[in-house]
Amino acid sequence: MDFELSEQHRMLKSTVHDFVAREIVPIAGRVDRTGELPWDCVRKMGEMGLFGMLVPPAFGGTGPDRLGFLIAVEEVATGCAGLALAMSMSTAVAVTILELGNDEQKKKYLPAMARGERLGALAAVEPGGGANYPVTLQAAARLAEESYIINGTKCFISNGGEAEIYLVLARTDPQKGPLGIAGLIVEKGAPGFSFGKSDNKLGLRADVTRELIFQDCRIPRGNLLAEGFLVKANAIMAVAMPALGAISLGVARASLEASMDYVKQRAVIGNQTVAKFDTVQEAIASMIAQVEASRTIVYQAGAVPPGKPDPTPFLVAAIFPCEAAVAVTNQALQLFGTYGYTADFPVERYFRDARGLVLVAQPLELRKLFLGRLRLGLPPM
Ligand SMILES: Cc1cc2nc3c(=O)[nH]c(=O)nc-3n(C[C@H](O)[C@H](O)[C@H](O)COP(=O)(O)OP(=O)(O)OC[C@H]3O[C@@H](n4cnc5c(N)ncnc54)[C@H](O)[C@@H]3O)c2cc1C
Repeated sequence: MDFELSEQHRMLKSTVHDFVAREIVPIAGRVDRTGELPWDCVRKMGEMGLFGMLVPPAFGGTGPDRLGFLIAVEEVATGCAGLALAMSMSTAVAVTILELGNDEQKKKYLPAMARGERLGALAAVEPGGGANYPVTLQAAARLAEESYIINGTKCFISNGGEAEIYLVLARTDPQKGPLGIAGLIVEKGAPGFSFGKSDNKLGLRADVTRELIFQDCRIPRGNLLAEGFLVKANAIMAVAMPALGAISLGVARASLEASMDYVKQRAVIGNQTVAKFDTVQEAIASMIAQVEASRTIVYQAGAVPPGKPDPTPFLVAAIFPCEAAVAVTNQALQLFGTYGYTADFPVERYFRDARGLVLVAQPLELRKLFLGRLRLGLPPM
């Protein structure tokens, strides 16, 4: 693999970097406090094409450019990890529609999603159990003539209430276990579909997560995306997992950069700065090593050619960089002393955000379990 970014990717990185400095960094503290999705930024990101990087021009995007997408996610995450997560989850839904949808569904949903005008949300997890949802999932979709009737409750759903297009996992055949789970498209405003409480989370607060309630929710039969969804949809693995790595990389990088600036100017004994202590130099070196290794892993996942069946690079991207971000942001807090433990500096936010990234989509243990079992030739669960 060539580790040099192309001219096009370098330009993308620099354009998104400047946008983040100008538009996202100034509002990141506020949206962290209020727990709002910054729609102004979403619209501008849409105009820049950041929501359509994995969607081909035929459906309104500019892609697919997987490495470019991860670079953009990383840059957005240096300013606001929650926003990067909202962008990633919406993109994962768009890619799933692209992968499994029929022409009518693609034409109907993808152009507005690629422009960031309509967001997508993936609704898998339920109050009765999230980590093992292929086994525990309760939501049911029953075919009644030309409609599906959906009943069930989902929780912690990114872009909940903000999104227009919900990819809902529900059982259509209880006899078939995980193979009896279908993916259905439910639009905001569908009869019987309402929103419950939104979560007051520790971090990733710009990614609004919310409960979804389906009470005899009726959708047209044509909104079925796929039966046997879990074995057909690859986007969660190929898009969401590396995106979690890219968000982690962005957060870790932001903590490292903030720490380097801080230790060079913080004088503690007369004029002696924190940077002069050898344990601090060692800590910075360890943070650099973790950020550099994470970048290689994430970009490598972005360079995997489409259709390659081995998910190892995608899972690795959701393991090492996510663990590294927790360690790096924790170290940053230490280097800032008690100042870092206050809301006067963003490092405490970075730590809270990194902590959430080992839970989203699949807890870290299950990502490892899945990879370990895969490589040992054992069944996934
Ligand atoms: C910021 C954020 C955004 C999210 N967005 C979405 C979204 O868009 N869509 C969505 O569907 N969900 C979303 N989630 C939910 C997330 O995917 C679930 O919370 C997660 O899968 C864990 O489910 P749970 O909280 O019910 O944990 P549980 O299932 O109650 O598990 C609790 C803990 O038990 C352990 N554990 C459980 N099962 C096993 C096992 N088999 N082996 C080993 N250890 C195990 C793990 O440590 C796990 O963390 C989001 C979560 C967060 C934090």
